Amino acid sequence: MKDTVSKKDPINVRRIIVMTLVIFLPSCLSSERPDVEIRGIYGHPKPFWEQGINLKDLGVNAVFVHSGAIDQEMVSRARGEGLRIFAEFATLNGKNYVESHPESWAINHKGEKVEAATWFMGVCPTEPGFREYRFTQLRKLLQEFELDGVWMDYVHWHAQFEDPQPVLPETCFCDHCLDKFTADTGVQPPDGTTREKAAWILTNSDPLWRDWRCKVIVEWATELKSILKQEQPEALLGLYHCPWQDHEFEGASRRILGLDYDLLGDVIDVFSPMVYHGRMERSPQWVGANIDWFSQRLNIQKDKGPKIWSIVQAYDDPRIISAAEFETVLRGGLSGKSTGVMMFTSNAVAEDKEKIAIMRQLYSSLKQSN
Ligand SMILES: [Zn+2]
Repeated sequence: MKDTVSKKDPINVRRIIVMTLVIFLPSCLSSERPDVEIRGIYGHPKPFWEQGINLKDLGVNAVFVHSGAIDQEMVSRARGEGLRIFAEFATLNGKNYVESHPESWAINHKGEKVEAATWFMGVCPTEPGFREYRFTQLRKLLQEFELDGVWMDYVHWHAQFEDPQPVLPETCFCDHCLDKFTADTGVQPPDGTTREKAAWILTNSDPLWRDWRCKVIVEWATELKSILKQEQPEALLGLYHCPWQDHEFEGASRRILGLDYDLLGDVIDVFSPMVYHGRMERSPQWVGANIDWFSQRLNIQKDKGPKIWSIVQAYDDPRIISAAEFETVLRGGLSGKSTGVMMFTSNAVAEDKEKIAIMRQLYSSLKQSN
């Protein structure tokens, strides 16, 4: 029977195979990943809504939107489509802020104000005025909108990791940081210029300096979590972060950015590694491998500890991301212990019918399982 059909009508055979896959593939996928919790998009849902698309019909169940772009109309419509709403909260990025508040400008090891690292300008994380400014901003956001969580973005010392050639300066040696370092550790550099103090610290107290910098970043996460829990106890605290493995760029993830996963793991509810393969000139397969590594690195136990919800690249910059690549990275984002995925950006998917179809197929198949 099989041979007869294939000889007489090979096209029909192909059609049967395709139909079989269409019918059975979703159920196969769903049985594989009943644990997937988040089928997300990063960016305002507007580009889909303008096309008359209901996100629920694409299998999407969560939106991650920049806090400044959230308004009541968006919240109402998203809730109407059954979506969970998470606010991206730019934490230590602040070009405009440092220009109007020069006392918060990060200082490098030469005692000079740092330059913007392409589009990122990190603010000094210990400057009291800036801290107060951000904490107040978060509280106001939470008092205005009911959210499912807040995702901190740019939580690291001044640097740029999203480009193929990262910018990784030594910071911050401003008076606030030097004073706090001494107060917290008891290490007192000899009198001298900022440049001399920085050189002394990096020569004589490098491990303590790196540890202290990591603790400053954890303190930010702890402060923001405290505000979050006071205002909305059920909401989650997430972190968008650099995906580098510990050894990459001479350990720059901890050494320069100040990310200590062992410490952060006690505070962060959900980690969202920014596995932007196109921007970082990696292969699409790197995404899955990286999430596998990170799952091991966090040592996630079932139903315990932080979760991983990855963010992958759909955006055509600095090169075109094909629909096939997009599928690979979207699936890769769910590797290891990851229980959620979203893409940068909603607009990049909405403007490409093939990418919409890929997202719909994967998300709809996962939807059957939860
Ligand atoms: Zn500083």
